[in-house]
Amino acid sequence: MDGTRTPTKAPVLILLGPPGAGKGTQARTLEAEFGLIQLSTGDMLRAAVKAGTEAGRAAKAKMEAGALVSDEIVTRILADRLAEPDTAKGVILDGFPRTTAQAEALDAILAERGQQIDAAISLEVDDAEMVTRVSGRFTCAGCGEGYHDQYKTPAKPDTCDKCGGTEMTRRADDNADTVKSRLEAYHAQTAPLLTYYDGKNALHRIPAMGAIDDIARELAGVVHSVRG
Ligand code: ADP
Repeated sequence: MDGTRTPTKAPVLILLGPPGAGKGTQARTLEAEFGLIQLSTGDMLRAAVKAGTEAGRAAKAKMEAGALVSDEIVTRILADRLAEPDTAKGVILDGFPRTTAQAEALDAILAERGQQIDAAISLEVDDAEMVTRVSGRFTCAGCGEGYHDQYKTPAKPDTCDKCGGTEMTRRADDNADTVKSRLEAYHAQTAPLLTYYDGKNALHRIPAMGAIDDIARELAGVVHSVRG
């Protein structure tokens, strides 16, 4: 970044990185700290699958195979969510865009609103570690807090530190085989977006193998740098 971008009160941030890089964890921290809205296309698609909508039915098999859902479906879901008024506070896009076609569609949606991307933040991690990270993760069904069998266990087994809930869920696609396919999809289809956003002077790379809090601090620094 060369500082030529105009600071904004309602930033549009993108989190990029392979599955397991910590996009969801960090997006939730930014949401709490800065009042931004986290928009996770993965969460939206999982909700659509659960609700049995047409989009959900079309997405299910792709998600289970660790492949990308069609640009058309995902872009429509994201555009509908972006049209809701709370997004005026600023958003963190977690898991979108994932292809160049999606990035171009996003640019067009934002341009219509007189907005642009303020920062695309790449969480940089080692592939080998990702399979372990993703295969061990689970979530509180009540509040969505994320945990991991090795790296972040709740203080009391099966009880959420945050809300006290006792129902923990694991994603169907968080198994070693599917994670490998998801990593391949990331490298083939999503990694080219680093060049795309670098070309727009919006790319920030953050090493993301360390402690969650250290990475959160780095991210907060980026948000401060783009906020008016
Ligand atoms: P992760 O980043 O850990 O892979 P997500 O929750 O972001 O997890 O995505 C889960 C799955 O949902 C992906 O493997 C893919 O099938 C689908 N998906 C999510 N976002 C997109 C997107 N922008 N484009 C296409 N497919 C998507």
